[in-house]
Amino acid sequence: MPLPFPLTREQTEAVAQRHPTPFHLYSEPSIRATCRAISAAFSAPAFPAPYREFFAVKALPNPFILKILAAEGFGADCSSLAELELCRLAGLSGDRVMFTSNETPDEEFRAAFSLGAILNLDDISHVEALRSALDGRFPSTICFRYNPGPARTGNAIIGNPTEAKYGLTRDQILQAYPLARSLGATRFGLHTMVVSNELNPDYHAETARMVFTLAREILDKTGVRVSFVNNGGGLGIPYKPGIAPMDLSVLARGIAAAYDELIKGTPLDPLEFYTEWGRFVTGPSGWLVTRAIRHKNTYRDYVGVDASMADLMRPGIYGAYHHLTVLGKEDAPATETYDVVGSLCENCDKFAVQRSLPPISDGDLLVIHDTGAHGHAMGYNYNGKLRHAELLLRPDGTILPIRRPETLTDLFATLPLDRLSSF
Ligand SMILES: *Cc1c(COP(=O)(O)O)cnc(C)c1O
Repeated sequence: MPLPFPLTREQTEAVAQRHPTPFHLYSEPSIRATCRAISAAFSAPAFPAPYREFFAVKALPNPFILKILAAEGFGADCSSLAELELCRLAGLSGDRVMFTSNETPDEEFRAAFSLGAILNLDDISHVEALRSALDGRFPSTICFRYNPGPARTGNAIIGNPTEAKYGLTRDQILQAYPLARSLGATRFGLHTMVVSNELNPDYHAETARMVFTLAREILDKTGVRVSFVNNGGGLGIPYKPGIAPMDLSVLARGIAAAYDELIKGTPLDPLEFYTEWGRFVTGPSGWLVTRAIRHKNTYRDYVGVDASMADLMRPGIYGAYHHLTVLGKEDAPATETYDVVGSLCENCDKFAVQRSLPPISDGDLLVIHDTGAHGHAMGYNYNGKLRHAELLLRPDGTILPIRRPETLTDLFATLPLDRLSSF
């Protein structure tokens, strides 16, 4: 069930007076509550291993959000120079930062290394690439990303691991650790990511079982003791009404059972357990607020809004469902069938297709739910659309702008306009 929007229509109108639609609103109390629920589920005595969540920065790359998460004890997972810089700005460095990318440029290896981040390598050839990028130095902590290939099926969203560009094969994994050890690494991690938006806790426990088993095999065959495993991201959220959210205690119990069976009492115990969830942490606590501005009746009834696919891409590219409410009409009967659309010159620019909704009037405020992860972050400037503002609802009920809307000056800043008149 999507979380209800935290403001009334009147409160939202007041916010929109100062911050015109479209904008994103994130709820700090709600994000903090999610963080605390995660930390509680994955702490002793219920959970047998040291635990840390590394928030996937790409889901919501705003340093104010990262600072909230850091204060809740979370780390961050990055895969670009910009994401590393956002971590630095938010006060995250050292082993609170993981760097997971794949075709990583040398410059990014260097930036991650100088921030002290844990480097998570995507290929065995990257051992040498990293050493060369660092002028012969090698980090003392190193992690490798495992791709199980045919040994495991991913879920429907992430697809078949054999077709995924990420990670090392099992044979390469068994060569990579001794190689890294020979170059001076002394602390080792094992990473994988095989599911996306997965609401079945058994999948996540099965992934843990897979990495625990592999950690044992690495120790047996190479003598390298992995000291942490990272189960990746992909914890699902209920985008549609009527679906229950993940029960974190069931999830933690499933992983704990795998730990007790495979790790407890072995030389690998204690084995730190990491996750890098993005969507689960902030997704339900963010909403895209937009205003109905046009109506059109042709072969279908269309409601045109002032946001577009450039503000929220998931429905357009994945056909993803995002729940939609009309502020002030939450309890009104859904007597109409609409396509809710933006103004982009792309026919997939639709937030809802043939959706049952209450009658919508021009000027109504519409809330698109569960956009706090992979929402603003995936936005773009096609058709010259300007990126919208991000607002934070603080615990005291005040609204803090954490990103201003883009202007035409921002959009054109990289054009050498001074040379245009003489061109
Ligand atoms: C995208 C990504 C995540 C986060 O995925 P969510 O679905 O937001 O949990 C975590 N790790 C890696 C390596 C990713 O690419």
